[in-house]
Formats: sequence, C-alpha cells, structure tokens
Amino acid sequence: MRLSIDHQCPQCGAPAVLEETDRLFHCEYCRVKSYLLQRGYFRYMLPHKAPSGARLIYAPYWRMRGMLFGCLEDGVRHRVVDHSRQAVAASFLPRTLGLRSQAMRLAFAGGDEETRFLAPTVTRQGAVDLFEERYGAAFPSPPYEQAFIGETLSMIYAPYYLADGLVDAVLNRPVQADPPDLSEFKTESPRWPIVFVPTLCPNCGWDMDADRDALALPCRRCNSLWRAGSDRLVRMKAAFLPAAETDAVYLPFWRIRADVSGLLLDSVADLVRLANLPRAVQPEWESRPFYFWVPAFKLPPRVFLQIGCFLTGIQSAEAPENGLPEGPGDLYPVKLPVTEAVECLKLMLADLLKPGRTFLPRIPRMEVTPRQAMLVYLPFRNGPHDLTHPRHPVGINKNMLQLGQGI
Ligand SMILES: [Zn+2]
Ligand SMILES: [Zn+2]
Repeated sequence: MRLSIDHQCPQCGAPAVLEETDRLFHCEYCRVKSYLLQRGYFRYMLPHKAPSGARLIYAPYWRMRGMLFGCLEDGVRHRVVDHSRQAVAASFLPRTLGLRSQAMRLAFAGGDEETRFLAPTVTRQGAVDLFEERYGAAFPSPPYEQAFIGETLSMIYAPYYLADGLVDAVLNRPVQADPPDLSEFKTESPRWPIVFVPTLCPNCGWDMDADRDALALPCRRCNSLWRAGSDRLVRMKAAFLPAAETDAVYLPFWRIRADVSGLLLDSVADLVRLANLPRAVQPEWESRPFYFWVPAFKLPPRVFLQIGCFLTGIQSAEAPENGLPEGPGDLYPVKLPVTEAVECLKLMLADLLKPGRTFLPRIPRMEVTPRQAMLVYLPFRNGPHDLTHPRHPVGINKNMLQLGQGI
C-alpha cells in the first residue's frame, strides 16, 4: 500500500496530499507544478498526539515497498514486499511499525532543534539486505540471485516521549514502564529540507509535464530530458530510434554496458556464443559492443524480464540518435531508475546464459560492474491491445503496462 503524505503547496500554501511515489506536484489551487527533490531517500514522520510540552523523540524505521525477484532453478519467482524494520537497534522499541504507517497520513520529517531524532545505525544497504534475507527465505528453494524492482525505500520516524516510562506518542500509550537510557543513542537534527523546483525546462523555459511519479521530465520544445539532482534539475543523456509511424509510442529502456567477472561478454559475438543463440556469428559481431537492455518503466515481474531478455537477445544493429524524438509520438514515462535496472542484470544473465545448468551455479559469484548507461527510447506500434515492436515479434499488452503502474 502506498503511503499518503500531508504537505503544503510551496507557492500558495494550500494543503495537499501526496502519495509516496509522487515526484511531480500539481497544485489544484494555484496551478503551479513543481518537482520534488530530496537527497538520498525521503523521510516521513507519523503524526503524534503527545500532550503539549512533551519533548518528542523520533525513532527511525526503514520502510520498503517493492517486488523481490528470485532466480530459482526452475525460473524466476517473485514476492511482494511491504515491510518496515527498526533502523536503530533498540530493544525497548517495537521491531516494526506494524500497520500504523498505512492507516495514517504522514508528514515530511522535520521539527525544531528541540526535537530529537535518533540517528539510524542500519544503513540503506543493510536494510535492503535484511529485507532480501527475510523475503528470500519465503521462496520454495534458496534463490541463486535476488533483486528488488520498483522499490520504494524510505525512512519513517515514529514519535515517543518520556513520562513515567516511554510513551508511544501516536497512540499515547506506554510501551515501556522503566524509562530507557537514551543517552547511549546518537541523535541528529532534522535538516532534510524537501526542495520543490518549478517544472520549467532549465534550457529553454518550456513548462514540462509528466506523470506524477515520473523520474524524468522531457522538454518537448528543445528535446532535452531532466531528472532530479540534489538541489536542481539535471540534464540526462538520452537517445532514440526513429519511428516509421507517426503515432508510435516510445518506450524508454536503459541500455547498459557492464563487465561480468569470469565471463567474456563484451561483443555481440560473445553473447551469441554464451547464450547458444541459433545464429552464425558474423565477423563484424566480434567488434560490435554488447549491451543489456532493461525496461525503464515498470511491468509485472515475468513480463519485465521477458522484454528485457528479448531485446538484449536481439542486439539491434541500429544506432540510436541523440536527444528525444521530435513530433507527436508519445513518450512513455520513465519510472524505473538506472540503479534498479543495474540490479536486474544478473537475473537477466540467469535467463540468457545457456545451458542453465552450467551457468546458474556460477551466477551468485559473478560480479556485474556497470560501465555506461544511457536511456534509449524505442518506438512501438500502438495497437488496440498491445504495443508491438516494429520489426521483431515482441509486444507488450496494455493491461500489463497498467498493472505495472501499481508496482
Ligand atoms: Zn498552490
Ligand atoms: Zn527545453
């Protein structure tokens, strides 16, 4: 379930409710659109009902929502993950937030200098590992490889205060009769401002638009693409393959060059050999670089990997043009960051390398090091039910795109 966050329009102060995946905020009152920037991850806090004068202590919890893919002997399986976990080891606090964060409106974390926020001791990677371990154990057999897709990882702060013991300030109920010694815990001040920037193209001033949860803002006037930096919009490198039809839908993909330890997977010829593809290696394939192709949008797990593996298997010889396509074609929004695309590369290898019985056991020890990534828009024919590749027998059902939005 997605969290709801109370906040105010940065322009006119009107109250608004955001979903946790929202990046573009469109104010209903003043009509101004802004894009949300945050360093690292988003931090929220639960509302409190503490008596006035109570000195609040906020305890951090990692919260993860997404899909865990596991590569098993008999194929790829997935688990839906929606869970929270203490980000500071404190035996007197509940280990998880329970259902509270879902039933309530949250706010962006902040407060005055008096408010104490316990500093997290579990790192972001530590949290991801914990969630992988917990949910990976639920697969029918131990997976060779796991990856989170469509992940939202945020920090949620739960309020407490001291009064004859420790009191949960959400419910105003004591959780611990003996007051715990908090002096051993490090605290920090809430200096995590959310930055709202206007959605105007930094290059030409055009008012850009996108879905509320889009990770990139395209400018259709100067054909540039922008993403959130820590305090401003940053230009992204993008390219596209031109479409033959005018009503094409351009789907975004991450085209990635990566080194794989213990494998020579540098050229298209290397892939044909390692994947045992039924093609005769052409001499020029020895020098044509191999790229992974990963969807930069969300799809149900099986379809996501199928499309990625299919396009990676094709290794199209067409050279993308720089920039964004001109004209009326639809640009499908980018919703999967390159960091998550990179997470999938080993899963894709597990599918591509043949025979599986030789390669699968080696997968856990392989190191995949990304070298270069670029967003490439590929044109698809806009059919009544499917988007289909103009030259290859691959399509994406529109229902699947719709389902992917909810991940
Ligand atoms: Zn407003
Ligand atoms: Zn522009």
